[in-house]
Amino acid sequence: MKITVIGAGVTGLSCAHELAEAGHEVTVVADRGPGDTVSARAAAVWFPYRTAVPSGEDATRLTERSLLRFVELADSAAAAVADGADDITDDIAPVEMRRGTVIERRGTPDRSWVPAVTAVLGTDAVRPTAGGVETTLPMIMMPTYLAWLMDSCRVAGVQFRWRKVESLAALYDGEYATAAPDVVVVAGGLRGGELLGGDEEVTPVRGQIVVLANGTGTDGSPEPLTDWITDDDNPDGETYVLPRVDDIVVGGTAEPGVWDETPDPETARAILARAVALVPELEGLPVLGHGTGLRPGRTTIRLEVVDPATLPDNAAPAAGVPVIAAYGHGGAGVTLSWGTAERVAELVAGLAAGTAGGETVTCSAPAVGGVAEGVQQQGDVQV
Ligand SMILES: Cc1cc2nc3c(=O)[nH]c(=O)nc-3n(C[C@H](O)[C@H](O)[C@H](O)COP(=O)(O)OP(=O)(O)OC[C@H]3O[C@@H](n4cnc5c(N)ncnc54)[C@H](O)[C@@H]3O)c2cc1C
Repeated sequence: MKITVIGAGVTGLSCAHELAEAGHEVTVVADRGPGDTVSARAAAVWFPYRTAVPSGEDATRLTERSLLRFVELADSAAAAVADGADDITDDIAPVEMRRGTVIERRGTPDRSWVPAVTAVLGTDAVRPTAGGVETTLPMIMMPTYLAWLMDSCRVAGVQFRWRKVESLAALYDGEYATAAPDVVVVAGGLRGGELLGGDEEVTPVRGQIVVLANGTGTDGSPEPLTDWITDDDNPDGETYVLPRVDDIVVGGTAEPGVWDETPDPETARAILARAVALVPELEGLPVLGHGTGLRPGRTTIRLEVVDPATLPDNAAPAAGVPVIAAYGHGGAGVTLSWGTAERVAELVAGLAAGTAGGETVTCSAPAVGGVAEGVQQQGDVQV
């Protein structure tokens, strides 16, 4: 089938890759390249922080399949490096398994994310430690990972067009130089609903970060940090330290409804102070930059074949062309990316077979998101 995916963040690229691997002719259309998306602001560690997912089988698969795919990528990258591959010139996914600590401050800590981890990594993968739990999870080095993913898409045959989609119908007027699609996938993040006639459930959740230089262990520079730590319930504000290779992402904030993307200096100072209190080795490391990102918060992730009756006339693509919505992942878009992509590919397969219309996986997802953020679980499985 000819499929147009709108969006080049982690959701759109993962969907495009999965669909191309399944043999479809895929074009990605986006007005922001991967490096300019919210996805590039994530550090990112696999962890569905306070993301609520219904207890159905599909929701479980969404988290576990994503984790499994990242573990496989990390394992094959580690094996390639051990064989002497060069992580710059060779095709190695920038994903590593990294040890980290989840600080727990509540009387009854939220360990709802643990079953997915033990299902994939074994029963001893999460170990109690003083003040929390220790575990080893995939660290996905954004935005390098996005560049790798885009290359992987290209190798799989995905085409790219860099421009804004004004309406789904416009995909058929020839302007986008795409083949008229048989299916459209909307992976537009925070703006996903705009193309579908509006979506009042979507809210930006602003996150601010500070990026520090990691040590090198040479010429007087400290040894590089590798372990991550999150302190979700820090009374002074959520705090996380996520070392990548050359840099360390320090956060954070979660400000629902805030559209301002300008980093606030006072907030940055407070983030750094909390982070240094947690990890004293950060003291004095050079600041490489400041950033913010607007997470695509939504009451629930939207992951479904859109009912055409809900689309206003000007939002409908050509008659009879199905639309799949895949947006609103809040603070867990990276974490859930491969599971989302597999589900979208499954929905497309169902459409081809004439069985998928309207079938929906709805995940009770973060209205607020990012590392250590998300709506509180309300009765479903919290991961
Ligand atoms: C500070 C911070 C830290 C985070 N940490 C983590 C983490 O550790 N782990 C984790 O899993 N998640 C994390 N997140 C959340 C994660 O970044 C998001 O959930 C994820 O990036 C959403 O990806 P997306 O592809 O759906 O949307 P986006 O990355 O926003 O991409 C949307 C794409 O759609 C395109 N688009 C939209 N509308 C149109 C249109 N009309 N025409 C053309 N193109 C269009 C845009 O150009 C863009 O390419 C973090 C977020 C922030 C801000």
